[in-house]
Amino acid sequence: MNDLKQLDKTYIANTYARFPVEIVSGHGSILTDADGRDYIDMGSGIAVNAFGIGDPEWKKAVTAQLDLVQHTSNLYYTEPCVKLARLLCEKTGMKKVFFGNSGAEANECGIKAARKWAAEHKGAEYSTILTLWNSFHGRTLTTLAATGQEHYHELYQPLTPGFAHVQPNDLADAKAQMAAHKCAAILIECIQGEGGVNVLDADFVKGVAAAARENDILLIIDEVQTGNGRTGQLYSYMNYGIEPDIVTTAKGLGGGLPLGCALLGEKVADVFAPGDHGSTFGGNPVCCAGAVSILSRIDEPLLAEVRKKSEYLFAQFAGAPGVESVSGMGLMIGIKPDAKPAAEVVKTCMENGVLCLTAKDRVRLLPALNIPMELLERAAAVIKAACAE
Ligand SMILES: *Cc1c(COP(=O)(O)O)cnc(C)c1O
Repeated sequence: MNDLKQLDKTYIANTYARFPVEIVSGHGSILTDADGRDYIDMGSGIAVNAFGIGDPEWKKAVTAQLDLVQHTSNLYYTEPCVKLARLLCEKTGMKKVFFGNSGAEANECGIKAARKWAAEHKGAEYSTILTLWNSFHGRTLTTLAATGQEHYHELYQPLTPGFAHVQPNDLADAKAQMAAHKCAAILIECIQGEGGVNVLDADFVKGVAAAARENDILLIIDEVQTGNGRTGQLYSYMNYGIEPDIVTTAKGLGGGLPLGCALLGEKVADVFAPGDHGSTFGGNPVCCAGAVSILSRIDEPLLAEVRKKSEYLFAQFAGAPGVESVSGMGLMIGIKPDAKPAAEVVKTCMENGVLCLTAKDRVRLLPALNIPMELLERAAAVIKAACAE
């Protein structure tokens, strides 16, 4: 471990503050470190391992495709990406899919689609994309510009121009900014993940959707973290009864392999022409074969199970000693300790065999969607004790 830590420090760019744990293997919702110690995984690789570590059906789909061909480029047809695109469209009512490799790339595509659509339908000056303060949309220069947190902006000026930010849950501000700028789109997360598991008010989300429609502004929902069953619906916007024009997603979609996509609704389905956009790895057959296995199992019984586990966690933490408040939806949960910093609670949990995340001042839980109830109960007991102590 000390050797590895030193080599990591020597050779890896200094962008991550890692926990002092070396993970070597795992199964389901258990991770094992280099000393053979087991941990209950309440983060699932930041909402990525939707069905946990080494899920047998996902592994079977991935290895079967590996035995055929691992990559072809987008110069040729392959079945897995077409199957996945069809499944995504059938489950959401969206019309077309562009595949990339990450959340940032999914959002880049959504932004490009919106800019091109607006230029063609409204005029090139209608280029502004509204996003929310406290949002997170990725690390590329454009998705950083979209991200409404100024501390991310300072180091990398100039960012892509044409973004303005709206106060979350302030519909009057959203409407004022729609009027003040020549807008192509508004891009929002229904639950701000990195921003602290901040669930947006239903009235605000519905009001933004209605105002966008009235003003001929596209509605883009960032489902990178909230998507693929995480909130107890297939996509979080489905909890709000709205119809986005573009949906972006990644994280859990690939079940642990890099995969992101932008889903294009009716208005923008045909915005792109050959050569307008692309991605060498996008739609990789191995990633897509795994994703078909994941997405086809995110059905109503599984979503009902996610909602049930969510209710259990809310019941455990709401009003518990040392807990100020609980936020979130489905298996995306933020616990605000009333006195201790969230990082300290996470450290105590780790010492007691449970791996959690933080988001701003909250302990963030993003377990695998199929985490067994027994493990969830054990983890909840450890986290509760860490908050109370
Ligand atoms: C993680 C995240 C992203 C960025 O995804 P990457 O795969 O890291 O590029 C974008 N939006 C949201 C809401 C996220 O949670």
